Amino acid sequence: MDIKNKDVSELFGSLVFNEKVMKERLPSDTYKALKKTIDMGMPLSEEVADTVAKAMKDWAIEKGVTHYTHWFQPMTGITAEKHDSFITPDNEGGVIMEFSGKSLVKGEPDASSFPSGGLRATFEARGYTAWDPTSYAFIKDKSLYIPGVFYSYGGQVLDKKTPLLRSMQAISKQAQRILKLFGHNGDAKVITTIGAEQEYFLIDREIFKKRPDLVYCGRTLLGARPSKGQDLEDHYFGAIKPKVAAFMQELDNQLWKLGVYSKTKHNEVAPAQHEIAPIYTSCNTATDHNQLTMETLKTAAAKFNLACLLHEKPFTGINGSGKHINWSMSTDKGVNLLEPGDTPCDNAQFLLFVTAVIKAVDQYQDLLRASVATAGNDHRLGSNEAPPAIVSIYLGEELTSIFESIEKETKYSPKAVKPIEIGVDILPRLPKDTADRNRTSPFAFTGNKFEFRMPGSSSSVADPVIIINTIIADVLREFADILDNSQDFNTELNKLIRDTVKKHKRIIFNGNNYSEEWEREAEKRGLLNIKSTVDAVSYLIHEKNVKLFERHNVFTEREIRSRQEILYENYCKIIHIEALTMLDMVKKEVAPAVVSYSNDLAELINRKKKLNFDVEISLEKNILTKISSLSSTLVSKINELENATLMADKDKTTYKTAKYYRDSVFIAMQTLRSVVDELETLVAKKYWPFPSYGDILYSVD
Ligand code: ADP
Ligand code: MG
Repeated sequence: MDIKNKDVSELFGSLVFNEKVMKERLPSDTYKALKKTIDMGMPLSEEVADTVAKAMKDWAIEKGVTHYTHWFQPMTGITAEKHDSFITPDNEGGVIMEFSGKSLVKGEPDASSFPSGGLRATFEARGYTAWDPTSYAFIKDKSLYIPGVFYSYGGQVLDKKTPLLRSMQAISKQAQRILKLFGHNGDAKVITTIGAEQEYFLIDREIFKKRPDLVYCGRTLLGARPSKGQDLEDHYFGAIKPKVAAFMQELDNQLWKLGVYSKTKHNEVAPAQHEIAPIYTSCNTATDHNQLTMETLKTAAAKFNLACLLHEKPFTGINGSGKHINWSMSTDKGVNLLEPGDTPCDNAQFLLFVTAVIKAVDQYQDLLRASVATAGNDHRLGSNEAPPAIVSIYLGEELTSIFESIEKETKYSPKAVKPIEIGVDILPRLPKDTADRNRTSPFAFTGNKFEFRMPGSSSSVADPVIIINTIIADVLREFADILDNSQDFNTELNKLIRDTVKKHKRIIFNGNNYSEEWEREAEKRGLLNIKSTVDAVSYLIHEKNVKLFERHNVFTEREIRSRQEILYENYCKIIHIEALTMLDMVKKEVAPAVVSYSNDLAELINRKKKLNFDVEISLEKNILTKISSLSSTLVSKINELENATLMADKDKTTYKTAKYYRDSVFIAMQTLRSVVDELETLVAKKYWPFPSYGDILYSVD
């Protein structure tokens, strides 16, 4: 497992059918044709596909591979795969290893059990996978993985990759129009770049297995607060324990082999919490790589007898885990469009792109919020550890005062003698210093990119990025339409930026997003504060949003409605499973433990009584009295949760059912939990059936 530094470059990407391997292994004509498909989306001929398939197969077989699979990302939020071997009968009782272009390009898994939100009835189970040549194939566990998209017989999309690819196209097209106006070659492709910082918890596997809530739901449904949580903040960036360090090394090795640019690792704020961040890459690849990272986190942890928790909020009262999505746009030559430039023209272009982001985020706050809406993330948003449920933008003081100067046509900062004139003035250097950053903002400009901090740790990168790409594409489209028809470009540009900032500046907030004053202030500004998934998801099908998706061919109305349906369904299922797990834990384990401890206390009291001790003021009596009173509350709270669960209308999964789960089942779970947690503080440790928060959080040494 130990690898030497000089080996890393050799190890990196060794299991990936990447550019280098393609160049080596494909005839130059085939390589050129494939490149055209990758770079420009040109259709691939059957002949080229056959040659590529053969080269892929030969390369994979040399590395001990026997199977191939299309690897896709259905609406479950994780990846899916179905493996076929390369074997084909040779008509002499033996086999040869074959892989055709047809099998590379298209697959047909039985798709009946994937969520489709009503897009496909089970009787027409057919679903197809198609190769996405813009994402490299790779080898894992003796199979050749071919990244792809997934769609139904009727052509509707059933996955997260297709809309992502469509949103990339939309933003590329509109950004190109803007670049052309600034005198750039209109053919240059614009790609969105993503760096997804991934937070996770690492705990002892044996302890993990003793908690059915962690095993089934990924989070603790019960558990009294430990005496030491994250109060001292001594875990953040602290020294990494040897076992965790060994795990992280293994993780890096595996990810590097798969071509994932794993770069940064450190301890996070909560005990047992850590983070991994890669170097940014195109959003398609970043989405695949983040899925591989989440999967590898789990499998590598198991090797060290650890369990990796990716849930947004595994422990109440302890910071949860997010996935910060760093987002920017760049040309295919690698020029970052959110990097302020050195010339007035570059700066004008930069300001226009930032203005587009400001407008998009204000106009589509609802969609951004909906893009991170899950039952798990509801625990995190707005609880003083993650951004609130209010979407706003942080620009930093420098950039904010530049926009103020533009908007008000007043002097900008003491250094400037006149208002900033777009296209004429050179902007001052914007500070990139981390100390200057506002860690509480949901959407922060961090020098040359935006960081969206609302996504939850287990979410697919695709969900938020589809929205970010599409909403910004839409504003760029509006801007390009206006500027295309301008008589005097510079005047029109100045006016456009000024008017837009004036209209949308309410979304800019540089202060403390965790404060109560901000909630009040945001309300005054008319910003949305959507606290739960159930409400957030309802915005997806608002008319302005459906039109947006259709305008950019990201979703048809039917597709977005089906996605909404899936999100509600998922929400209901999660709360339902949590409620059943909780009931099981309480009825079968907590209640018997309480009974047995009470019984032992009662026996002790009786024995003491017989020996003529005064038991009235004894410790045993005192504890037993408290436990007895809580026990009767426990009975009624169990009944309440059971009834709430029984009354849920599981056949329908609409807004109404989801709301029911939130307002009845979830609330009943919380009240039951508070009784159980109090009991945990009273019942002797050796009777308590589950490892405590302290046992779990400090389980790795
Ligand atoms: P932090 O936010 O923790 O201070 P960094 O700013 O160094 O860390 O980077 C966080 C993430 O942002 C990394 O994954 C990095 O690769 C990514 N990143 C940096 N530049 C860009 C960019 N232009 N586009 C997208 N992501 C980027
Ligand atoms: Mg960050």
